[in-house]
Amino acid sequence: MQIEDYIKAGKIASEVREMVRVKDWIGKSVYEICEEVENEIIKRGAKCAFPVNASINEIAAHYTAEPNDPITITDSDLVKIDLGVQINGFIADTAVTVCYDPQYDGLVQTAESALEKAMSMVKVGVKVSDIGRAIETTIKQMGFKPIANLSGHSLDKYTIHAGKTIPNVWSIGGFTLSGDSAYACEPFVTTSEGGGFVRNGKIKNIFAINSRKKTKNEEADKLLDFIWENFNMLPFALRWITKQWEEKEARELLDHLIKKKTVQAYPVLVEIHEQRVAQAEHTFIPTETGVTVTTSSQS
Ligand code: MN
Ligand code: MN
Repeated sequence: MQIEDYIKAGKIASEVREMVRVKDWIGKSVYEICEEVENEIIKRGAKCAFPVNASINEIAAHYTAEPNDPITITDSDLVKIDLGVQINGFIADTAVTVCYDPQYDGLVQTAESALEKAMSMVKVGVKVSDIGRAIETTIKQMGFKPIANLSGHSLDKYTIHAGKTIPNVWSIGGFTLSGDSAYACEPFVTTSEGGGFVRNGKIKNIFAINSRKKTKNEEADKLLDFIWENFNMLPFALRWITKQWEEKEARELLDHLIKKKTVQAYPVLVEIHEQRVAQAEHTFIPTETGVTVTTSSQS
């Protein structure tokens, strides 16, 4: 574990997240949002760990802008902006929900409170099942529902979901936090009318390499090499390859790679009762006495 790089990535991620939190995004397209946030990361000398997610209302996660995506933010939208920063493959994963309609302030505040509660409990040796229970209790006490099938995760070099999950509800089993790994904690909150689960939606606009096996299509294999050299195993968006390939061709080549299963496409995740969802997220490293929240805004 390279703690310095985790700290550097976390500091940049928190700066960019706080910029995102206070900015007025009404009237901006999701394309403008994703590009602007990604440019803020790059300006600070880091790379994106994944395409910025701008998931609106009942879409809980995994929406990123298509090239020139025209979907525009209105004053009644609830937008989860989830961003990832990487330095030498060490990742900071953090998210904020922006909303301009006071009707949804409670939802946003609850996601933040649940995250804060979880961070206050962390240290080496704490069971993640206890964290999940605390997140669930915090959310329910505020009159809302956690999304049970979305969870936090362990991080590894060039790997966002490194195999261990930090639940947002009470659950049996689980593991004990160790001091030699970084983790992300990310409570998702919906209304009391929500089902408290997400399902896969039809849209897929985030991708990642599955294998580097050649496909016998020369141009598709060139794209595969480009993806590997630039993004490694980390997720990417179509927007990120349309500087090298014209959009129509890029789509066709990407479809070919998906068909050959060398590239995987991730569907958007939608609340099952189509209720609005808020999210908050930090990356952290447990210590013997507490926690280093790498994406904390106070550091
Ligand atoms: Mn995230
Ligand atoms: Mn995450």
